[in-house]
Amino acid sequence: MECVVCKTGLMKQGKVTVTFDIKGTVVVIREVPAKICSVCGNYYLNSETSKLIMDKVQQAVKKGVEIEILKHTAA
Ligand SMILES: [Zn+2]
Repeated sequence: MECVVCKTGLMKQGKVTVTFDIKGTVVVIREVPAKICSVCGNYYLNSETSKLIMDKVQQAVKKGVEIEILKHTAA
């Protein structure tokens, strides 16, 4: 699969750290499986992974913590 951003890199399976900053809550999720571009670093999460991550982000925002650092675990 070719990268849609730089059109030169190839997307390879790997792990990324995803950071969100919503309403004053910073959520960092480590070791998220993603397809990562070998050239520009652009990455994609599959829909299942995105959903799991958004759930975690919403939970952290609800708790109202300032920063939450999580390690991604597959359901
Ligand atoms: Zn790229």
